[in-house]
Amino acid sequence: MIFKNKVALVTGAASGIGRATSLTLAQKGASVIVTDIQEEMGKETVSLIQQAGGQAVFYPLDVTDKVAIKEVIVKGIDQFGPIHFAVNNAGIGGAIAATHEVSDDDWDRMMDINLKGVFYCMREEISAMLHHKGGSIVNISSLAGLNGFRMNGPYSVAKHGVIGLTKSAAAEYATLGIRVNAVCPGVTKTPILDAATEIMEAVVQARVPMQRMGKPEEIAQSICYLLSDEASYITGHCLAIDGGMETG
Ligand code: NAP
Repeated sequence: MIFKNKVALVTGAASGIGRATSLTLAQKGASVIVTDIQEEMGKETVSLIQQAGGQAVFYPLDVTDKVAIKEVIVKGIDQFGPIHFAVNNAGIGGAIAATHEVSDDDWDRMMDINLKGVFYCMREEISAMLHHKGGSIVNISSLAGLNGFRMNGPYSVAKHGVIGLTKSAAAEYATLGIRVNAVCPGVTKTPILDAATEIMEAVVQARVPMQRMGKPEEIAQSICYLLSDEASYITGHCLAIDGGMETG
């Protein structure tokens, strides 16, 4: 129970990595503010946490909605007290298209959710954390934030941007008690891959030394490590969690 008396906010917590992270945080004792655009599944995450004896509350949240982000943070603090941890995880996979075929709408939607959504959340989380004298943030980037990503350039751009935000904020708040890190998952078995399962299986066979996809729970454990005091001297780091894919 290393997170007893801690409060954590997770975006995109209805599914995949966000749900696994919420469950892991709660198992370790945190009270979890579960948020997502998907209301039914978000409530299901809360039920799973409560069935396991943990504490959580669900608020619907679209991370492109700046006003709603502020409101959720206020409601979360009213419910559980100051927020110690934030996991900016909500994201979409985006359209598969070569650069010259990317539409304005697909570009804008990707930037709105996967990049600006992280920024909008960080801005409110950091303000709240400064007020309460500290905290720890983990943003979810991707291996596509460290490398190009053929046929999904906007996703790669947004995830590179998340790393820029992570490193900039890490330096800004390093003496103010706020650590900011990112994880860069490789191919991880979640619903976001449903539209491209066969392609991703082939990628794993060709490029992942461990020859399997990651599990959301494996990403969640690393996120919890970076949030925790065990990582007290780590800030601005971007941790690849990828079965060795980044070895080349
Ligand atoms: P997931 O299972 O689809 O979970 C993402 C959740 O975020 C979904 O519930 C999704 O709802 C929600 N969401 C989408 N747009 C939102 C918005 N505007 N506001 C709030 N919530 C929103 O996918 P996942 O794989 O766990 O993805 C989590 C994060 O990991 C994403 O940032 C993703 O880019 C990143 N990632 C995933 C992988 C991988 O291989 N799985 C690899 C690297 C990085 P909808 O279902 O309605 O979209």
